[in-house]
Amino acid sequence: MFRKLRILLLLFVLATVAVGAWRARVTASEWQRSLIVGIYPVNGDGSTVSNDYLARLDQSRFKPIEEYFAAQARAYGVQELRPVMITLARPLAAPPPLPPHDGNALAAIAWSLQMRYWAWRNDEIPGPRPDIRIFVLFHDPQAHAALGHSVGLEKGMIGLVNAFASRAEDGGNTVVIAHELLHTLGASDKYDPSTLQPHFPSGYADPHQAPVLPQRRAEIMAGRIAISTTEAEIPRSLAATMVGPGTAAEIGWRDN
Ligand SMILES: [Zn+2]
Repeated sequence: MFRKLRILLLLFVLATVAVGAWRARVTASEWQRSLIVGIYPVNGDGSTVSNDYLARLDQSRFKPIEEYFAAQARAYGVQELRPVMITLARPLAAPPPLPPHDGNALAAIAWSLQMRYWAWRNDEIPGPRPDIRIFVLFHDPQAHAALGHSVGLEKGMIGLVNAFASRAEDGGNTVVIAHELLHTLGASDKYDPSTLQPHFPSGYADPHQAPVLPQRRAEIMAGRIAISTTEAEIPRSLAATMVGPGTAAEIGWRDN
């Protein structure tokens, strides 16, 4: 009896999640209103540096992301003046479940469900319910030279970003957040995962430039600025990136 009830409950949860994800996806692709993006800051390493950083964190720090989406969308003729609206949740006490390391699709789905359940239980955010949730785990840059992978899932419209707890890294953090946010909206990576070099031409901000290398800006889903055929630099802020036509088509800003 209990087993049946449990299965029924699980099916109900799955159905709710599926319908919710579908509805959010439909809305997102139309760009008829602002998409509400909830940012959930978390102390990712339990350090006092991250704690102090979180204590001073406010919504204005994420304004560049809103402005970036507005400017980039306008370039593709999107009418909505504020395509993305960010709301900041209070820092969360405990980190969310971490994503699976391997690329197993089933594990990713299980993680996405776990995350949605976790988000639902921890959802203390001002204003309307977010369409997209991005959990940002902050780490002391002195203790962590490199951070784990960030992820953004289209199914579930959820992202997890590893970021540095430092004002000097705010620009770089916003680049990673915008990149994962675009993944949740259906954008694909535009770089070679083995070399991290941007794909040509889709991963180049200015593929028609002559000479084509070095590039000065990054296509946001390539994540890096191609300097030569073997070198690429990480952009320090959103100002050094743009949304290319390939990404714009994937997220519904232009026709294919
Ligand atoms: Zn990516």
